[in-house]
This record gives sequence, structure tokens and C-alpha cells, in this order.
Amino acid sequence: MSAVVIDGKASAARLREKIAARTAELKSVHGIVPGLATVLVGNDPASEVYVRNKRKTAEAIGFKSVHVELPATVSQDELLAQVKALGADPTVHGILVQLPLPGHLDEAAVLDALDPAKDVDALTPTNAGLLMSGRAHLVSCTPVGVMLLLKEYVGDIAGKEALVIGRSLLFGKPAAQLLLAANATVTMAHSRSRDLPGLARRADILVAAIGKPEFVKGDWIKSGAVVIDVGINRVNAGEGKTRLVGDVDYEGAKKVAGAITPVPGGVGAMTIVCLMHNTLIAACAQNRLPLPSAL
Ligand code: NAP
Repeated sequence: MSAVVIDGKASAARLREKIAARTAELKSVHGIVPGLATVLVGNDPASEVYVRNKRKTAEAIGFKSVHVELPATVSQDELLAQVKALGADPTVHGILVQLPLPGHLDEAAVLDALDPAKDVDALTPTNAGLLMSGRAHLVSCTPVGVMLLLKEYVGDIAGKEALVIGRSLLFGKPAAQLLLAANATVTMAHSRSRDLPGLARRADILVAAIGKPEFVKGDWIKSGAVVIDVGINRVNAGEGKTRLVGDVDYEGAKKVAGAITPVPGGVGAMTIVCLMHNTLIAACAQNRLPLPSAL
């Protein structure tokens, strides 16, 4: 048996088209252009690439893109002032502060300064709390992307055993909340969990967000399970080259699983588009218009 390969690129392209169509309608009917602001502090090469891609996608969809670039030496007060100024700008509906920030800056204080209505990464305590309460409309982008892939490739997941490995605020915790809201029976595992292979072998849906290359082995996978690999790890490919791999041993898992996301081309492809979807939701909410829903 060989697993169905979940095509995140194709799903992302379809969602992107829907967002572009709704954006064009917002503009022509209501004169509203969704605005996404990106804040980049310092010169981390990976962060620069992520922010550039987000800006390019926003512009291609028809959003207004505002970019604030600050030196790595920026003071906490100056950064907070910039975030608050974007919060007060009515043409900016979503604000993304690219993390991680340089070590001298207090990330929690920056998130506290973010207007939750414009928090398109959904990292503020307000949005995390609304998700717990089942009332959030801005939810962390990668977990939403995962749920959209499950909806498309699995359908109803009620009663299924889901294992989420990783408990970050950015991914693991919101992903577990969304799976629970979709009536899966959810187990969360982390670095202190005992017998991870045993937990994995029970899972109908295995979601790995660990940050360790090919950590989850093929013989941990239950036959026919759906494997969602969130990890993005750059590894040495010999001859001075590198390649991207996930947190799951793809070749091993593919022989046993029912469906699996590749890396790249799986979950990662969904994340940026879900960020655009959140920006569109934020723009509609701030203008008291019906909210688009992809989930
Ligand atoms: P993170 O904040 O570093 O969290 C990693 C989690 O993995 C932690 O909860 C940690 O447990 C757990 N973990 C570490 N070692 C483990 C072990 N040996 N056994 C079980 N659990 C272990 O990472 P993150 O931000 O969630 O990201 C995880 C991965 O997903 C990274 O590769 C990242 O690049 C990728 N990612 C991809 C996207 C995308 O768009 N595709 C988006 C976000 C993240 P403790 O809490 O006990 O330390």
C-alpha cells in the first residue's frame, strides 16, 4: 500500500483564488482594500524570506501591503510605538510581527501591544482565549491550514483518535483545540511524553510539529492513518547542498499511512494563504461585514 499524497499546493491555490475573488468584491462593492502590515526587526535571513513571501502574496491577491523594517538594535519602546501606530491606522486590518525577535526585546509585551482585532497570527492571549471558548474568528494560520487539508482529504473526523506531537502556542496548542472542536479524541504529546511510538500507533490522525528531522518513524504509524507533517527542517544533502525534510520519515510512513503530507508542498503551502484569509476576515470584521469562512 502507498499513501495518498496530500497536495497542499493545490489546496492552497484554490483557497487563494477564493480570497482574491472576495477581495475584488470587497473593493468594488464596499470600497475596502484589506491591508496587511508586516514588521521585521533585524536581518535574520529566514525571517527576511518569510516576510518577503507574505508581502508578495498579499500584493498578488490585491491587498494593500505595508512594511515596517527596524534595525536589530531597535528599542522596546520604539517597537511598541510602531505596533501601536499600525493598530491605529484604519487602512491596516492585519498586523504581523515576524518572530523570533532579537533577544533584548520582550515578545510577550509586543503581543500585548497588538490590537487583537488585527492579530492575524492569532498569538495574543485574547485570541488564544477566544479559541478555547469556541468563539475565535482569528486562529493561528498553520493549524487552520491543517484543518482545511483534513476537511478535504478525510471529511468528518468525529471520534477519530488524533495525536498532536508538539505543544507550541503557534501550532500544537491551537491545532489540538481545532481537532477537539471537530470532535476528534485528542492526545497532546511533547518532549516529556512517555512511549511516543505507542501513542503514535493508536492515532488515526498523527500531526507532528516538533522541529526534528524525520523524528517520527514509519513503524510508529498505524496502518491507514492520516499523517500531517508540520516540520520544516533543512538538512545536509551532500556536495554542499541542503534539502527540506519534515518531522516524519516520509518514505517509511508513506508505505503504511492512508494519506500523508509531503515536505515541501504539504502543510507549509497552506500557511501563507491562511494568513491572507485571516487578513480578509479581519478586514470584514472591522467593517462589520459578514465573515468569510474557509473551515
Ligand atoms: P517549537 O515551539 O520548538 O515546539 C516544538 C515542540 O516539539 C515542543 O512542544 C516540544 O516539547 C516538542 N518536542 C521537542 N522534542 C520532542 C521530542 N523528542 N519528543 C516529543 N516532542 C518533542 O516548534 P513549533 O513552532 O511548534 O514548530 C515545530 C516545527 O514545525 C518546526 O519544524 C517548524 O519549522 C515547523 N512549523 C512549520 C510551519 C509551516 O508553515 N509548515 C508553521 C509553524 C511551524 P516541549 O514543549 O516539551 O519542549
